[in-house]
Amino acid sequence: MATIIDGSKLSEEIREELKEEISVLKGEGITPGLTVVLVGENPASQVYVKNKEKACEKVGIESFKYTYAEDLTEDELLNKLDQLNQDERVDGILVQLPLPEHINEKKVIEKIIPEKDVDGFHPINVGNLFIGEPLYSPCTPSGIMEMLKRYDIPLEGKQAVIIGRSNIVGKPVAMMLMKENCTIEICHSRTQDLAGHSRRADILVAAVGRSELVKGDWVKEGAVVIDVGVNRVDDKLVGDVAFDEAKERASAITPVPGGVGPMTITMLLKNTVKSAKLRAGKI
Ligand code: NAD
Repeated sequence: MATIIDGSKLSEEIREELKEEISVLKGEGITPGLTVVLVGENPASQVYVKNKEKACEKVGIESFKYTYAEDLTEDELLNKLDQLNQDERVDGILVQLPLPEHINEKKVIEKIIPEKDVDGFHPINVGNLFIGEPLYSPCTPSGIMEMLKRYDIPLEGKQAVIIGRSNIVGKPVAMMLMKENCTIEICHSRTQDLAGHSRRADILVAAVGRSELVKGDWVKEGAVVIDVGVNRVDDKLVGDVAFDEAKERASAITPVPGGVGPMTITMLLKNTVKSAKLRAGKI
């Protein structure tokens, strides 16, 4: 029977640690600040932004929110980011994605200075993830690595199979696992014999967005399964892995919800605190 990797509990623990750290920083006159920018009225984005605000408040990070109507121009958004780049109170800037179609996402990501790019999406941070140590790594992959670390899951020499090659999950988590000396395989929509690749995995990461794509018999006995997928099925959240079947074969597995999801915001908080410390010359 698999160990259930409890992302909610782990998040609570890490947020408690952050709260203590922030209270010490505040004693030294440093208040970490995170700005979230939301354009348009995407309901899912509104929920994510609200959750980020609440999470900030709970640990003592000051949060600033700028919401704009769908018809905000690209120039207006870029100008706002210029201002935020210079705002001393702001340690982290996050622009909630997706953006309306008339705004070029790449230009927006590149506008945020790497020092405040707590999402870890700026090409400089992405490049540094490939060649060394980035200032900030993207939050979902960082959350996955933190879970593996805190559950003492050995990585060295293990075969890691990542299903999904997105810039925000698949590719960065592959780099991070390789850094920990895993041998990595990245699979995607054109991969042939996905089941065969999956069955070789000691560490299997599914970041696809297809409910229960990974069947129980795709999981090697004793594998560690990280399910990043969040799919809404009949008003329920379901992962990319058929959890009930997979947990019979895995040694450890993340549930959906309550696995990777809560860790993502926690790592955003962690990156923001790191930025505050870096900017104050504390690290
Ligand atoms: P994406 O759509 O950008 O990428 C999906 C990847 O899956 C692509 O690389 C594609 O090649 C691959 N793919 C698609 N169909 C496939 C198939 N049939 N077989 C093999 N590969 C296939 O998605 P993303 O942004 O990486 O997100 C993936 C999932 O993770 C989504 O469900 C998303 O909601 C979820 N997600 C969760 C969190 C979190 O915090 N829990 C964060 C980010 C993403």
